[in-house]
Amino acid sequence: MANSDDSHRIQPPHIALLPCAGMGHLIPFLRLTALLASRGGCTVTLVTPNPTVSAAESTHFSTFFSTHPHINRLQFQIPTNSLTEPINKTDPFFIRWSQISQSIHLLSPLLSSLSPPLSAIFSDFTASMSLSQVADRLSVPYYVVFTSSARFLSLAATLPSLDLGGTNDYVEIPDLPPLAKSSLPPPFFDPNHFFTSFLLSNIQSFSRAKGMFLNTFEKFESETITALNNGRVLSLKLPPVIPVGPLEPFNVENGEKSETGSDYVLWLDGQSDGSVVYVSFGSRTAMSKEQIREIGDGLERSGCAFFWVLKGSKVDKEDTVGIEELLGEGFIERTKNRGVAVKGWVEQEEILSHPAIGGFVSHCGWNSVMETARHGVPVLAWPLHGDQKVNAEVVVTAGLGMWVREWGWGGERLVRGEEIGEKIREMMSDEKLRRRGKEIGDEARKAWEGSGCSQKALTEVIDALKRTN
Ligand code: UDP
Ligand code: UDP
Ligand code: UDP
Repeated sequence: MANSDDSHRIQPPHIALLPCAGMGHLIPFLRLTALLASRGGCTVTLVTPNPTVSAAESTHFSTFFSTHPHINRLQFQIPTNSLTEPINKTDPFFIRWSQISQSIHLLSPLLSSLSPPLSAIFSDFTASMSLSQVADRLSVPYYVVFTSSARFLSLAATLPSLDLGGTNDYVEIPDLPPLAKSSLPPPFFDPNHFFTSFLLSNIQSFSRAKGMFLNTFEKFESETITALNNGRVLSLKLPPVIPVGPLEPFNVENGEKSETGSDYVLWLDGQSDGSVVYVSFGSRTAMSKEQIREIGDGLERSGCAFFWVLKGSKVDKEDTVGIEELLGEGFIERTKNRGVAVKGWVEQEEILSHPAIGGFVSHCGWNSVMETARHGVPVLAWPLHGDQKVNAEVVVTAGLGMWVREWGWGGERLVRGEEIGEKIREMMSDEKLRRRGKEIGDEARKAWEGSGCSQKALTEVIDALKRTN
């Protein structure tokens, strides 16, 4: 006989997540998805916009679903041949953001027919405006996933009322330290720039969300998180900020190591602890050949062992230039006993977690910042685009790194090998940074241990969604 209590049993919530284009967006989504299913016990549907821009995105989707068979995949075909509003922009990732937003009405019937019915929708912030309307119509609670720092969110939330004219070198963000104007993404000074208008339209919809997930943790950005949650960063009424970082790699629980990683991990195994500088500018930032050569020169001059990941173009599928051509004749031969330079995808977390790594020359994409914080690796910040200078400010304020502001935005000036080599040496021998790095690594791990703040924050959301089931 059926137990009469069955009908009242609390069911796990069913959550659908929509990531947008770019690895910097996809990686935190995959990690959050895996976490909701594993630690959270949720039923999870991951929406996969198709086609993807980069090969890395499609490879990651395939690996993810083959290693997580219990997670449902909802294919979302994006019509890519027409834009209802053409955009004056060539960045393929930005174009795809637009296409995804403009196609959300096609997702609505797919979401409403899911079984069991949805308890919540988690959306990339770049699709917030359109997806929040769908969530309203379906009467499903809606959350935003903001893939940058809390500090960048505080700036974005103030953007609608910021006065960027005038001679003041700083912008005021209520109850937070002023931010150097030179750290603002250059497109912010042009309200008609695609990125600025797109972001502005999406942030207007943040107030409709029940909460905003950020890949950060209390100890790392405490002042900003507190200010945001006290509603002091006004201009927009933001929902609660839910820090759930640092998000851990999704294959960690399986104890998997990447196959492609084995060669370079073997090389790292042969290096002494803390001796290797890791150099990478993320998944989509290609530098000029001249700048690449100067970095090579800098690495040679630094005298340090190095692990350098290069990109020849913004989209990996178009990256056809050979590594020798990028690096110049003789570099690989000259440095073969001291360093490794690779082109293509590497498992960055695996590298950062290796004891041989003693420092990271990073563009400060926010995922990279969280990963280096998690492993306590000091940073030489070299922000190049978008939110990266604001993120570099956070790194320096936390005591995890140094930043040569004069190096400017990407392509603004050619930074010479001499300066690069000198700064790398300085970072690699800075004991204070190393000590602080260790502390930050401990704090980051605690955020996910026992009743750590990130663990607690996620559990609270899941429990609330269970009750409404
Ligand atoms: N990443 C990686 N291998 C690579 C390049 C990037 O694992 O060869 C990962 C990196 O660890 C991070 C993400 O891709 O998780 C890049 O995001 P981030 O925000 O750091 O920078 P973006 O690529 O968006 O500029
Ligand atoms: N860009 C990038 N990584 C980022 C942000 C921007 O590679 O995280 C690229 C962007 O796609 C563009 C260039 O940097 O090709 C300058 O971008 P932005 O939109 O900031 O300025 P604009 O293209 O208007 O000069
Ligand atoms: N961003 C920006 N202006 C730009 C490009 C990017 O402010 O021209 C910000 C944006 O808010 C985002 C961050 O930089 O949070 C990362 O940029 P994007 O998402 O384009 O790069 P990805 O993370 O895909 O590398």
